[in-house]
Amino acid sequence: MNIAKLTIPAVRDGLLGKQFSAVELTTEALRFAQAENPKTNAYLTFSDQRALAAAARVDAQIAAGQPLGPLAGVPIAVKDVIVTKDVKTTCASKILSNYIPPYDSTAVERLEAAGGILLGKANCDEFAMGSSNENSAFGPVRNPVALDRVPGGSSGGSAAAVAQGTAVVSLGSDTGGSIRQPASFCGCVGVTPTYGRVSRYGLVAFASSLDHIGPVSRPVADSATLLGAIAGRDPRDATSASQPVPDYAALLGDSVQGLKLGLPKEYFSNLAPETGDRIMAGVEVLKKLGCAVSELSLPHTEYAIATYYILCTAELSANLSRFDGARYGVRSPNSQTLSDMYKNTRGEGFGAEVKRRIMLGAYVLSHGYYDAFYRKAQKVRRLLTEDFTNAFQQVDALITPVSPFPAFKIGEKVNDPIQMYLSDIYTITGSLAGVPCMSVPCGTTAEGLPVGMQILTKHFAEDVMFRLAHQYEKAGGFTA
Ligand code: GLN
Repeated sequence: MNIAKLTIPAVRDGLLGKQFSAVELTTEALRFAQAENPKTNAYLTFSDQRALAAAARVDAQIAAGQPLGPLAGVPIAVKDVIVTKDVKTTCASKILSNYIPPYDSTAVERLEAAGGILLGKANCDEFAMGSSNENSAFGPVRNPVALDRVPGGSSGGSAAAVAQGTAVVSLGSDTGGSIRQPASFCGCVGVTPTYGRVSRYGLVAFASSLDHIGPVSRPVADSATLLGAIAGRDPRDATSASQPVPDYAALLGDSVQGLKLGLPKEYFSNLAPETGDRIMAGVEVLKKLGCAVSELSLPHTEYAIATYYILCTAELSANLSRFDGARYGVRSPNSQTLSDMYKNTRGEGFGAEVKRRIMLGAYVLSHGYYDAFYRKAQKVRRLLTEDFTNAFQQVDALITPVSPFPAFKIGEKVNDPIQMYLSDIYTITGSLAGVPCMSVPCGTTAEGLPVGMQILTKHFAEDVMFRLAHQYEKAGGFTA
């Protein structure tokens, strides 16, 4: 078995055809991932025991002739901001370096109920704040495509594991681009579903009104299967949606002929030349498949970065106040008073980017600045969302680049937070509007660096998005 190339259907065929048992596959997947990890640092923790126990359950189902779940035996990496019972969950932060959750997130619970195998926890930027994975307290992740480059962030480990072939699929989280941007940098498929489509229960909160859990995979079909298995209403997350979950994977084959696609003109300035070329070549493929393409405008796009960095910092400054040394994780020793204990714990436990954002957030929420910053940003978020509502009255989907440039060198942007923030310029809008969006590989630069094309559709139209991506992948020949 070539473990690095497996897909969900190949795992299923292998199990049912008795080429391997789930325990054999899991044993080999753990061995391979652990041997490869020093190259990329994609995993922070391996969950051998839990993985082998889950695999034994799948083998018992096969032996008993019971029907298998859609993820039966599939080795999966889960970003380390998604909690896992009895398996360390650090959020790539020193402050949670010893945190072992007493419960499972809904996404992980559903993934295992579907037969999936939790291989381990994927490295990421600290508390999912970053665009390069260089903000991890446990070292950066290297891009398997070019080891001197970043894998993107914040779900850098999730994308690197899939690109490297140490996981068949993975879960990431996306607040402003953190699934799509690393997927595009590593040459994978990355999906941010509609806000509320997947329960956030057990996702450590960064900016609650923007946080999403979503899949990363090699072929589009695997993301469709994984999303289908984890999506749907969860009474433990009041913002989870009750709309029925379609069988995304079953709908991939439908034609895209006649679909109307829009190219928002604001997304095509300031692109690295080769990125622009790859996206336009991708658009030509979609035209050949029978889609009608037109240009349109999302007029408030230029305000998106500023809006995002006001709203996300405001929310995170409140969400991260729970990490105070009293209830979770690491406590700084040798403090004389309670307030010293808080200050020392937070001062030592959080990295520089997290501290910068907590201060920014406290500032935009403070008396006197709340109206000027926070309230205004909420209004602009509404305008940005209306841009999408208007666009989706004219077209079925939008096609844009994911990132203005391909993977950059490790260290290249660390000293310039504004440059780093600008790398999410084309992903942040979809997150603010809560619409489904994904990155699909659309070729590489002359240097061999992957470029990702973004597809966005209206709320809960993941089926249309997946169909476009799948038909494009087939026609473009980018299937892994
Ligand atoms: N790069 C963006 C940030 O640093 C997005 C992160 C994310 O989506 N989690 O906030």
